Amino acid sequence: MKKEKKDFDAIVVGSGPNGLAAAITIQQQGLSVLLIEGKDQIGGGMRTAELTLPGFKHDVCSAIHPMAAGSPFFKTLPLHEFGLEWIYPPVAAAHPLDNGEAAILTHHIFDTAEQLGSDAAAYKNLIGPILKNWPAFVKDLLAPLHFPGKPFAMAGFGLKGLQSAKLLSRTFKTEKAKALFAGMAAHSILPLDKMASAAIGLVLMTAAHADGWPIPGGGSQSLANALADYFVSIGGQIETGNMISSLYQLPSSRAVLLDVTPRQLLKIAGQKFSTIYRSQLSRYRYGMGVFKIDWALDSPIPFTAKDCSKAGTVHIGGTWNEIAHSEQQSWKGIHSRKPFVLLAQQSVFDKTRAPSGKHTAWAYCHVPSGSDKNMTDIIEQQVERFAPGFRDLISGRHTMNSKELEQYNPNYIGGDINGGAAIISQLFTRPALRYSPYRTSAKGIYVCSSSTPPGGGVHGMNGWHAAKRALKDIFKINLPPV
Ligand SMILES: Cc1cc2nc3c(=O)[nH]c(=O)nc-3n(C[C@H](O)[C@H](O)[C@H](O)COP(=O)(O)OP(=O)(O)OC[C@H]3O[C@@H](n4cnc5c(N)ncnc54)[C@H](O)[C@@H]3O)c2cc1C
Repeated sequence: MKKEKKDFDAIVVGSGPNGLAAAITIQQQGLSVLLIEGKDQIGGGMRTAELTLPGFKHDVCSAIHPMAAGSPFFKTLPLHEFGLEWIYPPVAAAHPLDNGEAAILTHHIFDTAEQLGSDAAAYKNLIGPILKNWPAFVKDLLAPLHFPGKPFAMAGFGLKGLQSAKLLSRTFKTEKAKALFAGMAAHSILPLDKMASAAIGLVLMTAAHADGWPIPGGGSQSLANALADYFVSIGGQIETGNMISSLYQLPSSRAVLLDVTPRQLLKIAGQKFSTIYRSQLSRYRYGMGVFKIDWALDSPIPFTAKDCSKAGTVHIGGTWNEIAHSEQQSWKGIHSRKPFVLLAQQSVFDKTRAPSGKHTAWAYCHVPSGSDKNMTDIIEQQVERFAPGFRDLISGRHTMNSKELEQYNPNYIGGDINGGAAIISQLFTRPALRYSPYRTSAKGIYVCSSSTPPGGGVHGMNGWHAAKRALKDIFKINLPPV
């Protein structure tokens, strides 16, 4: 039977890192792809805008990109030819303490270990084996469940990473090392006593030693633009300002890949799905929200601990106990009065971000899902605690509570920036327990967002794996591993 002529081979809805990765992967096979973005600007979580004052460029969402720099797929693309420049702050992350010291995470495992004093050996024993196998390992980690390329190394990682951060923190004796690890593990956006909350901490610390924690010159929009410009250069088409509420709005195609989370997926395509799949999607769990703040500053942040001034990221929250308590509170629906704050100071390393002599800073803390509480004062108190005089430098600020974040990007349900809670039952099988998590129950419809493995963050691997699945199912093209 003759195949019906379609407008496009594939349509991708949503231009976050995963939508862009999926669109590029399919277009690279010589097929025709249309990428549709609901907002006027492409990029999803990778946008930069003058949120406060003219000339101050703020990363609206993602700022620090260890997983993008280390992404097995992004590494295959000539993104530097499309304007992407990675800038590496001398210290990846610093974690100030009340005694005026800071724990630091640097490019060198030995330097990081040595400043942890009596925990130096424990740090090397924990991270060393993961770092040794990293290039192969990162491909296994940023993928759906499969037989790993390095089974023994992966099993070793699993024994550590599947633990709660609380349990694994017992590896360390000093408050300094425990605090450093708490800040890393809190990127999981889970209470630190939850199973697998250790995994992201281990990955982020190892990534600092392997690929660094860079910022894109000019802002995270530069990464979005480089991906989009490369996509167009190989023949892809992009349409912005078209928020899709039903599949019927789309031109005809052989495959549709949606860079959306289960709740939106149900609205857009639910009528095409089986009852079981619909029920699975409706049970999907979203995580805590975030409260985001951007500042225009008259000078760099005057941290008491000098190492903080060399760091792209500063983890603010004090001790292990304080951070664990604040994460537990947000999970339970309580706004912490001393939240763990993730802060980035891009302009210290990238002069394009602010007018001469001026600076920007970016921060967020975790809050209960759907919160509309204004956390400005509480966050600024936390920064002031480790950088007295900070508040006097503020010349402009812009904030978004969890509700406003969801209005800004419909994928941030209740302010959840990871497309769903990274609880153990949703780690490998998100958004539903299926042979391939990227396939929906309807032929030709795929999901490619951070609600699929390997979860949140800017790396594009969800999109690459979803496209690989669609290429095999619909176009009979078998991609080799990336
Ligand atoms: C405040 C904040 C800080 C962050 N910091 C970092 C960081 O430093 N490093 C890091 O790696 N990650 C960070 N993240 C997380 C990161 O941004 C996300 O994990 C990542 O962007 C998810 O990519 P995605 O492609 O799955 O979805 P998204 O990037 O959310 O993109 C989805 C896109 O789809 C569009 N869309 C949705 N529904 C429709 C529809 N119906 N029709 C048309 N278009 C639609 C949206 O407008 C959006 O552009 C941060 C996120 C936030 C909010």
